[in-house]
Amino acid sequence: MSFREIVGHRRLKRLLARAVRSGTLPPSLVFAGPEGVGKRQMAYALAQALNCLAPVDGAEGERDACGTCASCSRIARGLHPDVVLVRRPEDKSAIVISQARDLVRQVGYRPFEGRCRVVVIDDADELGGDSQDALLKTLEEPPARNVFVLVTSRPNLLSTTVRSRCCVLRFAPLAAAEIAGALAGAHGFSDADAQAAAALSGGSFARAMGAGARERAQARAVAAAVLMETAQTTDVRARLAVSAALLKSAARKGKDTDKDRDREKEGKSAGADRESVAVRLNAMGSLLRDLAVLTTRAPGTALVNLDLRADLEPLARHYDRDRLARAFSAVGRSLGALERNASPKIVADWLVLQL
Ligand SMILES: [Zn+2]
Repeated sequence: MSFREIVGHRRLKRLLARAVRSGTLPPSLVFAGPEGVGKRQMAYALAQALNCLAPVDGAEGERDACGTCASCSRIARGLHPDVVLVRRPEDKSAIVISQARDLVRQVGYRPFEGRCRVVVIDDADELGGDSQDALLKTLEEPPARNVFVLVTSRPNLLSTTVRSRCCVLRFAPLAAAEIAGALAGAHGFSDADAQAAAALSGGSFARAMGAGARERAQARAVAAAVLMETAQTTDVRARLAVSAALLKSAARKGKDTDKDRDREKEGKSAGADRESVAVRLNAMGSLLRDLAVLTTRAPGTALVNLDLRADLEPLARHYDRDRLARAFSAVGRSLGALERNASPKIVADWLVLQL
């Protein structure tokens, strides 16, 4: 993946792309920032830009990889001998000292075929104290044509001496619009799905793409519908009818859907599983928070569900401070009750009468 293909982080991309071109890249870097925002991808983009056989130079002094040459494609497939990925072995609790020693030995040799060896230490906060010590001297002054990238979402777990030897680049959460744009473009989401997934991602592209993203988007749609319908009626029977929506099984793909349908035919509540009700209640909490923002007109506070603004604004008129407080507390108590194994149906019925 080249710099231009990475979502967001314009300033960091430009910084790195210029440093590659001008040969001023610090040899030891820390990429610090939340999970799933593209830190590891950026490390690989850097490795490609450094080793590309046909690099693309931009008008502002930056250099990016072509993405298609032999070097770029081997890096993308994880097959380049000079791009070294180090991570904690699955059966260990830390990146162990022998890995660190191997690394120190390895970087003593010249790169095999690339211009520059790039060592990516993934989840570098899992370096044990002794491994950090073993790497210290190498990080301070890596042999020529070696670049270290320490990727971490918890930079504070790196020792201060390690951090002081490295140039720390901070990655911010991605903006919802950046994520939505990428999902709708390269990943084939519909605009509505892309915006919903982005709004619920907390700025993490991985989370927006990951398992459950569509389920969270659907859960939010259900929660919004429940809030809208309960806002318009105090009639108990009408409200209990709304509760069924909270319990209805989420649409699943393939076999599961058939199974659900069979179970529904047998009269069993297939979808009223605790977890999907909880996901919907969490979505409801997030919507209520936005309603609070809209009713108090708190200046400079962004809506989490910005894409639903047109629906939330009229809904906010039904909610004053007291009603919001009641609704928040009811959602919180419902989630607690679900955790304590209360029947989802009883919880949902109780909740729709409190909203
Ligand atoms: Zn290339």
